[in-house]
Amino acid sequence: MSQQIAISLKPDNQFLSFVQSHTGESITACYQCGKCSAGCPTAYTMDITPRRIMRGIQLGLKDELLDSSAIWLCVSCQTCSLRCPREIDIAKVIESLRQLSISEGRRPAQKDIAILYSAFMQQVRFFGRIYEAGFGLMYNLRSLHIFNNMLRLPSLFSRGKLKLKPVRKGASEVKQIAARVKELERKKG
Ligand code: SF4
Ligand code: SF4
Repeated sequence: MSQQIAISLKPDNQFLSFVQSHTGESITACYQCGKCSAGCPTAYTMDITPRRIMRGIQLGLKDELLDSSAIWLCVSCQTCSLRCPREIDIAKVIESLRQLSISEGRRPAQKDIAILYSAFMQQVRFFGRIYEAGFGLMYNLRSLHIFNNMLRLPSLFSRGKLKLKPVRKGASEVKQIAARVKELERKKG
């Protein structure tokens, strides 16, 4: 369901500056053509579509965006970024909104997706890749959907789709990348 952005709210230009400097993307270049929203596979579920997210940033509507469901419903497929005639990496911008929402300790509008996201990132940091069985277990426990997909486990294990033992590969490289990103973010302030 679509939600109207209240344009009468006070613009916070610091928010626009922050997102632009954090992502390196020129949000002000967006001329609202709507190609991003038209190609987005999850736009129909979003309370604020990608085009309107961009407009919201231009207007400094920080709270509306960081508390929206849309930033959690984006699956980072990059379709919007590829379609944008202004070459704005919208997927990257939305990822930065998710990160900002987390760093400000906001209550995610889509709690289960936020838990899934955090469990995914933890797995990648620790193993350098996804260990599916651990990932599923972590998600079920944290989301309190304890028995979610449990009936599928025997067939997934028997067909070799899930492994009991995790494979740790590339974890040190992932750690180095994460440390480098943190360092760059620290330098940017
Ligand atoms: S496709 Fe690009 S220019 Fe068009 S609305 Fe989306 S972000 Fe703006
Ligand atoms: S990256 Fe996110 S916003 Fe962009 S098209 Fe994919 S799901 Fe939609």
